[in-house]
Amino acid sequence: MRYISTRGQAPVLNFSEAMMTGLARDGGLYVPEVVPVLSKAEISAMAGLSYEDVAFRVMRPYLGSTFTDAEFKGLIAKAYAGFSHAARAPLVQLGPNHFLLELFHGPTLAFKDFAMQLIGQMMQAALAKTGDRITIVGATSGDTGSAAMEAFRGLANVDLFILYPHGRVSDVQRCQMTTPAEANVYALAMDGDFDNCQARVKDMFNDFAFRDGVRLAGVNSINWARVLAQVVYYFYAAVALGAPERSVSFTVPTGNFGDIFAGYIARKMGLPIEQLVIATNQNDILNRAMKTGDYVQNGVTASISPSMDIQVSSNFERALFDAYGRDGAAISALMDELKAGGFHISQGAMGMLRETFASGRCSEAETLATITRAFAETGEVLCPHSAVGVKVAEENLGAAPMITLATAHPAKFPDAVESAMGVRPNLPPRMADLFDRPERVTRVPNDLGALQALIRERIAR
Ligand SMILES: *Cc1c(COP(=O)(O)O)cnc(C)c1O
Repeated sequence: MRYISTRGQAPVLNFSEAMMTGLARDGGLYVPEVVPVLSKAEISAMAGLSYEDVAFRVMRPYLGSTFTDAEFKGLIAKAYAGFSHAARAPLVQLGPNHFLLELFHGPTLAFKDFAMQLIGQMMQAALAKTGDRITIVGATSGDTGSAAMEAFRGLANVDLFILYPHGRVSDVQRCQMTTPAEANVYALAMDGDFDNCQARVKDMFNDFAFRDGVRLAGVNSINWARVLAQVVYYFYAAVALGAPERSVSFTVPTGNFGDIFAGYIARKMGLPIEQLVIATNQNDILNRAMKTGDYVQNGVTASISPSMDIQVSSNFERALFDAYGRDGAAISALMDELKAGGFHISQGAMGMLRETFASGRCSEAETLATITRAFAETGEVLCPHSAVGVKVAEENLGAAPMITLATAHPAKFPDAVESAMGVRPNLPPRMADLFDRPERVTRVPNDLGALQALIRERIAR
């Protein structure tokens, strides 16, 4: 399997190289040259299998010769052993034809654990074969950083640096990043906001001397391996509800478009997905783009579903690449326009996007009302991101069963949940002592040179 860049100017890579590279050198994102299609019989055969067995069957065709089958099975087993639910991704029913896929039973209570736990194992195994060491730098608004810390702590061939905006993450998120004691992971609290953090990480990737010098790798959802790991639960859930004989629909609370793009890949692989619904909060650039064809930034407003507060939805570039007939030059031109504020999506590309995706938005008041109502009607406590999904899903119910992705545990966002329900959700018992663990964090300025010096010094230890 070969991987190509959405901008057409970067080297073609194999799976392992694409996983270690993150952002392509032409600024694009890696995608498989050809998406493998599973037969109806292959999909049917997934019924009743464990999450781990489905994971193996869905991902195996993408890996080439990176791992033997036995090695890959071992890595999958390790990745999901720390989840607190035997089903890994259990489905619960919310209404007559509406289901919730709970993706928050991993070690840091958000769906990011599904991909991060696995790529931690895959990167370490690939590096152990060559003896190489890499440096991972990631920016986070909270969940990616905590999932990465948990996945990479203690791994022998990796140093991990997570940049988060000082004072702008929740207490649970901060403690999940600052309390791991292992020497190879570093929490850096940067002056500025999330966009500043992300911009400094991009600067590091664009400084080729630094990038090559420290062997920089990325774990944000620009990394193809992360998207791939998320394709699995679409198959797992759909098969549980009768696919491939019966079609299903999904609604996905969306920020960077990584999670829903995984659903798009599942559909390309042959999973009968009727509707794939983008759910946004008040930061609704994707919903506006779907409705008007104009992808235009108009500033981020902080919301109670902060993991979806985005201005530039990185993975949307992958969908555009297909919508524009895989024309890398056209994508490059659009991304140049985006730097100046936005672009208009061509009529042909809009046709493809609308055929594939529906969309909706959910206001702050609607988010809170949905948390209150879902609890009253079903007893399910939703996090604010999942509530955005449930609200938009309800507007799109049809003949096929609707599956809404629940992206985080309510206790990760206790303030919003408390204001909707009057009761504060408790952390699961295994992390009840989170706030008592010692914190370790370095305050850093929003300054590329200073950050690079700090990273060089720490990895030389
Ligand atoms: C990351 C995240 C999202 C958004 O996912 P994308 O892949 O960026 O679209 C939604 N909800 C939660 C809780 C998240 O952590």
